[in-house]
Amino acid sequence: MVSPEHESLLSDTDRVEGHSALRDNVAAASALADAVRSTLGPRGLDKLLVDEEGASLVTNDGVTVLETAKVEHPTAKMLISTASAQDAMARDGTTTTVLLIAELLQNGLELVERGIHPAIICNGWNIAQERAAADLKQLARVPTGDDDLLQAVRTSLAGKVDEGVRENLSQLAVQAAHAIATESGGEVRADPSLVKVINDVGGGGGDTHLVAGLVLPKERIHPEMPDNRDAGRIILFDGALERRGLDIQANLKVTQTGMLAQLHESERADLAKRVQALIDVGIDVLIVRDGIDDEARALLNDAGITAYRRVEKQELDLLSRATGALMVHDVNNIRDDDIGEFSTLSEENWHGVNHLILEGSAVRGQTLVVRGSSDARLEEIGRAFNDALGIACGLLEEPSLLPGGGATQVALARRLRAHARGIPGREQLAVESFAAALEAVPRTLAENAGLQPVDELIRINAAQSAAESDGDWIGLDLFSGELRAMDEAGVTEPLRVTRTTLEGATEAAVSVLRIDDVLWAKQDPSEPDWQDDPEY
Ligand code: ADP
Ligand code: MG
Repeated sequence: MVSPEHESLLSDTDRVEGHSALRDNVAAASALADAVRSTLGPRGLDKLLVDEEGASLVTNDGVTVLETAKVEHPTAKMLISTASAQDAMARDGTTTTVLLIAELLQNGLELVERGIHPAIICNGWNIAQERAAADLKQLARVPTGDDDLLQAVRTSLAGKVDEGVRENLSQLAVQAAHAIATESGGEVRADPSLVKVINDVGGGGGDTHLVAGLVLPKERIHPEMPDNRDAGRIILFDGALERRGLDIQANLKVTQTGMLAQLHESERADLAKRVQALIDVGIDVLIVRDGIDDEARALLNDAGITAYRRVEKQELDLLSRATGALMVHDVNNIRDDDIGEFSTLSEENWHGVNHLILEGSAVRGQTLVVRGSSDARLEEIGRAFNDALGIACGLLEEPSLLPGGGATQVALARRLRAHARGIPGREQLAVESFAAALEAVPRTLAENAGLQPVDELIRINAAQSAAESDGDWIGLDLFSGELRAMDEAGVTEPLRVTRTTLEGATEAAVSVLRIDDVLWAKQDPSEPDWQDDPEY
């Protein structure tokens, strides 16, 4: 930490001229934020993106806009990767993150130009961010049931898909999250990757539904094989059940009649032996990565095994997780651990295509079957579902909700300003600049709804302060244009989303400001500035 008596030392001489790099970086961040600012909130505008081949995409999603943009500037690239990380971690809040970074940097630049050292600003921002994280917990509420979860999921989908689909997807996401959630030692885990999404072209979007278990567009290799089984044993074989061309064949001269037949016979015997090895282990279902020959098929059918072939690696992995089966590479070397268990297996015919539906005994997987009229539509629904599912799973793992509509940011800013008064030295200014940056969220939401940003900000603050209880939950309901308790307006967000926006934005803004710090320092930047000081 830099003590106040050294600040004059730090802010002297030619360093003050050295801001051109910072100014350039802040300009890049602002330009990027301007590109997505107008998409924030449910009243945000859609962007029409057109790529070099002329293909177009209409989106209201900040991160999609950013990831499609051709950006060269290193600072802009860093903002985009922060937004992508936010998307991966919390499935929401990407536009907010970018706005906050740009806002922090603009405020930071102003402080630097007033002669405050970047290190102090970074320090103040970190103090503010930690403080805000603690305050968030106080503001948050525990969801009391599925209605609360649904509300947050719906909020996150606002503006992404149309109304009818949104409701359906929100419910499916909550249902799927419950189905895959597990609890151990009081801790809930809900891994969204346990839900598979498959497309089924045809039918309306409203027919999209959830199936317990894994669904693979696959048909058993022989119609006589049982297609409806209760609990049983399963093997996943990473190979083929086909005749192996014996190596010697290439060099072989057929000198004797019957030699070729003999060769075929030995190949057949080899295959039969391998199939028998599988049968001997005692299994009900066999899934094979590559092909299965007719002869092997007949043997498996006689043994009462239901078999599938040409199943992709990715699907084998899912089957492995669901059933606990390990991939078998050598049929003559199967251990007990390799064998998995399923609880049900069935086949259904959808639009002329057979689908295998398998429920494992180890992990309860789920499959969302997306129905829609076109591929583009299916893609859009699948993407929105994945976001919704991420939100629902996140809420089961961390059940904490905050008010949306700018309420959280206004409440945090007020608390931070009060807290700043108690901080001695110039860090106080940095904490205040952090508070001001947070207010960009309600300002932008208001602006995008055609309201006066500054007036709305003042109104929210006044309403929150005047309320006798739960004032911090009052925000701007963009559909009615009224100030309301956000839980009543149905505008809530997971604490995880808001917390990660603050963490990501602070980290990114700090690293941009530190670039300036490094340029400033004439000495080795890895050594603190104050090291030469004899008093230290
Ligand atoms: P992000 O990419 O940051 O998630 P969005 O475009 O999804 O950006 O907008 C999220 C913001 O919109 C949040 O601040 C959220 O509270 C706000 N919001 C969503 N629905 C409403 C609503 N009905 N009224 C007011 N604000 C809303
Ligand atoms: Mg969002």
